[in-house]
Amino acid sequence: MFGIKNKICFDTLPTSGPEALFAKYMPKPQVEYPNVGEKNETYLKKVYMQTWGCQMNVADSERMLGLLGTLNYRPTENLNDADFILLNTCHIREKARHKVVSRLGEIRPLKEANPNIIIAVAGCVAQAESQALAKEVPYIDMIFGPDQIEELPTLIEKVIEKNEQERKTEETFTTHKTVPFILTKFDNKEQGYSIPIDVIPPYYDENKSEVTRYVNIIKGCNNFCTFCVVPYTRGREKSRAENEILDEVNFLVNKGVKEIILLGQNVNSYGLDLIGATDVHSSNGKLPFADLLHTVSNVLGVERIRFTTSNPHDFTPTLADAFAKLPKVTNSFHLAVQSGSDRILDRMNRQYTRAEYFERVKWIRDVRPEIAFSTDIIVGFPGETEQDFEDTMSLVQEMQYAFIYAFKYSIRKGTPATRFKDQVPEEIKDRRLQMLLDLQKKETERQNLAEIAKVRNVLILYKNRKEENTWYGRSYEGRLVKVHSPRNIMGLILPVKITDANLIALEGHLA
Ligand code: SAM
Ligand code: SF4
Repeated sequence: MFGIKNKICFDTLPTSGPEALFAKYMPKPQVEYPNVGEKNETYLKKVYMQTWGCQMNVADSERMLGLLGTLNYRPTENLNDADFILLNTCHIREKARHKVVSRLGEIRPLKEANPNIIIAVAGCVAQAESQALAKEVPYIDMIFGPDQIEELPTLIEKVIEKNEQERKTEETFTTHKTVPFILTKFDNKEQGYSIPIDVIPPYYDENKSEVTRYVNIIKGCNNFCTFCVVPYTRGREKSRAENEILDEVNFLVNKGVKEIILLGQNVNSYGLDLIGATDVHSSNGKLPFADLLHTVSNVLGVERIRFTTSNPHDFTPTLADAFAKLPKVTNSFHLAVQSGSDRILDRMNRQYTRAEYFERVKWIRDVRPEIAFSTDIIVGFPGETEQDFEDTMSLVQEMQYAFIYAFKYSIRKGTPATRFKDQVPEEIKDRRLQMLLDLQKKETERQNLAEIAKVRNVLILYKNRKEENTWYGRSYEGRLVKVHSPRNIMGLILPVKITDANLIALEGHLA
C-alpha cells in the first residue's frame, strides 16, 4: 500500500565506478512514512483528491499526496470514504469557479453528515478567487494557492483544532459560521524555489508500477500573453535548484520510472532567475535549461526525457543542439503556436512571428527529421478575421502536426484581452474550432496509417485492462501503441512492428 512500505535502502549504492554518478545524486534519506503495521491500516485517514487542468496541477497533486502520506493520509477513489476532500483547481478557462462551486455543492451532504470531514480547495481558482469562494461556500475549511502547498500540514492542524473548539461549543453544521483558512500569498523569494524531497517526498504508488513521471523544474511565467491567466495565478518565473531536481529524478528512477517529463509553464527559461538573466536573449549565450537536459540525460536509469511547455519566443539554437546531442530526449515536441496570423500573434503578445515559428521548427527538423510536433491553438481570439483564421489553417496544414490541442478563446478576468472590444461571437468560434479539428483529424489519421509496417521502439507504460495480453506504450515519436505480448513487458523499451492504426493509436507485435 502507498507510503507504508515506502522506505528506501541506500546502503548498497556504489561509491566508485560507473554507478557512482547515480549514487552521487541519490536522494537524501527520505522522511520515513510511519509504519503503522498491517492491522492498523484501517485507522489510516483517507484523502479524496480531484484534479483539474494542466500537467502542473497533476504534479502539484502528486506533491500533496506525498506530503499527506507523511501525515498518514492514503488516497481513496471513493468520495464517501474520505476524511479529507481536496479539489485542486484550474483557472485557465471561463466559469472555472462555477465548476468548483458546483462540485462543492455535491459534496455538501457529506460535510453535513460529518462536519469533521476537511474540505480544501487548492490550485489556481483558490489563488485567484479565494474571497468569492469563501463567501459562496462557507463550509470550505481551507483555501490555498500553489505557492502554499508546504503549509498543508499546518492548515490541517488548524482545522482539526477549530473543529474541536466547535464541538466543545456544540455548534452544528447549520449554525456554525465557518471562516476558511485562506493562504494565497506568493512566496517572496527573489529567485529560485524549493521542493525539497525530504520535506515533500515524491508520491509514488507502489501498486501502479509507474513508468513515466513529471518533475517540476520551474514555476510561474514572465511572458504575459494577453489571453492568459497564468502569470497572475502562478506568479513570476522561479526555478528549482538542479540538485533538488536530480534528487527527485533519482528517487523516481530508483522506483522503476523510465521516462522523466520536465515540467514548467515555460521550461526554456529554466535557471535564468538563478543566474540573474532576464531572458534567454540576455544570458550571454548560456541556456541553463539545455545544461539541465544534459545533466538529467546522464542519470543512469533515465531512458527517455520529455519536457513541456516550451514557448517558441525563447526557443534558441542551443536547445535545438540538445536535441541533436541527446538521444534520450524523445522525438516528439510540443511547441505551442496559438495562431498562424502575425496580426493575432502580435495582439496575443506572443513575441514571435509565423516566419520565426517556422525558423525554430527548421532548427529542430534539421537535426531530427522524423520529429513529431504538436501544438496549442486558440480560435476566435478577439479581432480574429476569416483571413486570420485561414492563416491558422494553412499553418496547421504546412506543419503536419501529430496532434493539436485546440481551444475556443475564453475571456479571463484580469487579462488584457478581456478589454479588447472586438470579441468574436460564440457561433463563429464553434465553426472555426470544428473546421480546425476536422483538418487535424485527417492529418493524424494519415500519419498513423503511414506508421503501418514500420518498426518502432516502444516504451511500455501500462497493461490494457480490457484485453488479455495487451499493453499500451509510446513510440519514440510519442504515438500511443497497443502491443501484443503474453509476457510482462511493463517498463521495457522494445521494437514493435506496427500492423494496424486508427485515429487514436497504433497497434503492433514485438518485432
Ligand atoms: N505556456 C504554454 C505556452 O505558452 O506555450 C501554454 C500553457 S497554457 C496553461 C495552456 C494552453 O491553454 C495555452 O497554450 C492556450 O492555448 C490555452 N489557453 C490559455 N488561456 C486561454 C484562454 N483565455 N482561452 C483559450 N485558451 C487558452
Ligand atoms: Fe500563459 Fe503565455 Fe506564459 Fe504560456 S507563455 S503560461 S500562454 S503567459
